[in-house]
Amino acid sequence: MELLKNKIIAEADIIEPNIVKVDGFLNHQIDTILYQEIGKEFARRFKDKKITKIVTIEASGIALALTTAMHLNNIPVVFAKKGMSATVNENLYVAKVHSFTKNITYNAIISKKYLSKEDHILLIDDFLANGQAMLGLIDICNQANATVEGVGIVVEKGFQDGRKVIEETGVEVKSLAIIKAVEGKNIIFK
Ligand code: 5GP
Repeated sequence: MELLKNKIIAEADIIEPNIVKVDGFLNHQIDTILYQEIGKEFARRFKDKKITKIVTIEASGIALALTTAMHLNNIPVVFAKKGMSATVNENLYVAKVHSFTKNITYNAIISKKYLSKEDHILLIDDFLANGQAMLGLIDICNQANATVEGVGIVVEKGFQDGRKVIEETGVEVKSLAIIKAVEGKNIIFK
C-alpha cells in the first residue's frame, strides 16, 4: 500500500534497534484519511471470506478494525482488553501474551458473550513482530470454537518470526506494508 509506505518513509523513527515508532499517524495521533484507506484495503483483501466479526486488541487496533468493519457491511468489532492480574472467570476467554517490546506478560481478555462458534473472525492489528498478540487472539477464538479466517496487519516486521508463528497455526496473514530490514535509520521494504 503506497500511501502507507510513503507515510512510514516520511515520518517513522527508529527507536531502539528494530522498534519502529509511528506515533504521528498510527499509535498516538491518527491520520483519519490513511485509516479509511487502510480499512478499504483490508476489506478488499479479505472480501472473499465470509467474515462475521473483527477481533482486535486495545488500543491501537480498535480504530483500524472500525474502518475495516465499515467496509465489510458494518460487522461488529470486538477488542480484547489487556489485564495485568490473573483474571480467571467462567464468563471470560483469557490468553497470556508476552510483549517483547515492553518486556511484560499480560492477559488478553474477551467476554464469552461476544464470541461464538458461529463466528468467522478477521483478526486485525497495527504491527506484527513475534506474533504473540495475534497468537493470543487465535487461542481465544479457538476457545470459543470460532473460525479464524485470517490476520490483517498494517506493518509487518518481516525480519521477525510473527508470520511463521501464525502460519504454523494454519491461519493466513496479509500485511499492508512489510519491512524487510532496518539499517540504522533506514527502513527497507520487501
Ligand atoms: P508481537 O505480538 O507480534 O510480538 O508484537 C506486536 C505488538 O507489539 C503490536 O500490537 C504492537 O503494539 C507492538 N509492536 C511490536 N513491534 C513494534 C514496533 O516496531 N513498533 C510499534 N509501534 N509497535 C510494535
